[in-house]
Amino acid sequence: MMPHPSTDLFVVGGGPAGLAAALAARRLGLDVTVADCSQPPVDKACGEGIMPDGVRAARALGLELEDAGPRPFAGIRFAEGTESAAARFPTGRGFGLRRTALHQFLVDHAHQAGVRLLWGARVTSLVNAGAWVDDRLVRARWIAGADGGNSAVRRWAGLDASRRDSRRYGFRRHYRIAPWSEFMEIHWADGCQIYVTPVSDGEVCVVAISRDPRLRLDGALARFPQLRCRLEAAAAASSERGGVSCTRRLKRVWRANVALVGDASGSVDAVTGEGLCLLFQQAAALAGALAREDLSAYQAAHGRLGRRPEWMGDLMLMLDRFPALRRRTIQAMARDPRLFARMLAMHVGELSPFGCVANGLSLGWEMLV
Ligand SMILES: Cc1cc2nc3c(=O)[nH]c(=O)nc-3n(C[C@H](O)[C@H](O)[C@H](O)COP(=O)(O)OP(=O)(O)OC[C@H]3O[C@@H](n4cnc5c(N)ncnc54)[C@H](O)[C@@H]3O)c2cc1C
Repeated sequence: MMPHPSTDLFVVGGGPAGLAAALAARRLGLDVTVADCSQPPVDKACGEGIMPDGVRAARALGLELEDAGPRPFAGIRFAEGTESAAARFPTGRGFGLRRTALHQFLVDHAHQAGVRLLWGARVTSLVNAGAWVDDRLVRARWIAGADGGNSAVRRWAGLDASRRDSRRYGFRRHYRIAPWSEFMEIHWADGCQIYVTPVSDGEVCVVAISRDPRLRLDGALARFPQLRCRLEAAAAASSERGGVSCTRRLKRVWRANVALVGDASGSVDAVTGEGLCLLFQQAAALAGALAREDLSAYQAAHGRLGRRPEWMGDLMLMLDRFPALRRRTIQAMARDPRLFARMLAMHVGELSPFGCVANGLSLGWEMLV
């Protein structure tokens, strides 16, 4: 029953959100301990695409993702059947980065910054003074719940109430094949999308996502003959791994001395590619609120940060639900690529609210025409 030394911030979960929050708090001078029940580098079903706003959010935490060996991509391509539309990001590039490489990169940075890292350490309950890790009490002033979408900290702190909660199911596999495009691709079919992210010069990450928990990657590929044909000759570079993609907004993300960050605090649909960006931004906001000893400021910032990706997520889910609308949208964007370029600028936060409205009107007009 040896107690650990007490810490200013105890982080439950050493995934990207926990490590980012730990780094941000360490940079502001807090003593930080992270506990995770797994061993690094932790893998997870993920599309492994980080949009330019995510690259910038990581940089704001002192993380130059370029140093982690990513494969850059120039923009996004939508494809359905023979129709396709592509656009470049207005500034910067997106990065495709294997999840294990991202995790190791974050672990190394946290270690160098002086974060205390406890691996293979399961947090079993919270008390006012801290948290129980296996059979030891860690005393902490603040606790961050970064234990993922199925967060126990959220439950223990009574923060489960949500305004919305819907889920889809994603299955991921890597293929040994040179990326054939400078874009991250989203292939659309009725009820399912497959997205392809280049993650190195010789490998792509392929994710199928749908509302059907039984639709595995091979079954989904049958709906995309061109893509299946391309991947048929390529060797699999990883086994299939599944995950749940939630669209979830919580009513509250903090109570007393506990705050939630990353997927534990709510999430946007995976197809937006904004999960990692959001958690980097939340980590910075949480550290700022801790430094001011005011978690209500974190609540406000958390709501603000989620607004744009949630809105873009809704838009993408609408395209998933209404095939005719989706086909018309892709056709309109193929005819006038500026529409897609502006939509992408909106997606990565580089278009003003006025520009967003103007683009919506242009897109509507183009679809009517
Ligand atoms: C199919 C799919 C595709 C996606 N594609 C993308 C994409 O292309 N781009 C993007 O930006 N985002 C994507 N996302 C979202 C992104 O993966 C998540 O937002 C991100 O992984 C959340 O990180 P996290 O640290 O909050 O949670 P997690 O990565 O789930 O980490 C939680 C950690 O907590 C630990 N833990 C849990 N319980 C305990 C406990 N009791 N004690 C100790 N440790 C505990 C776990 O071991 C784990 O390491 C995708 C998600 C899915 C499902």
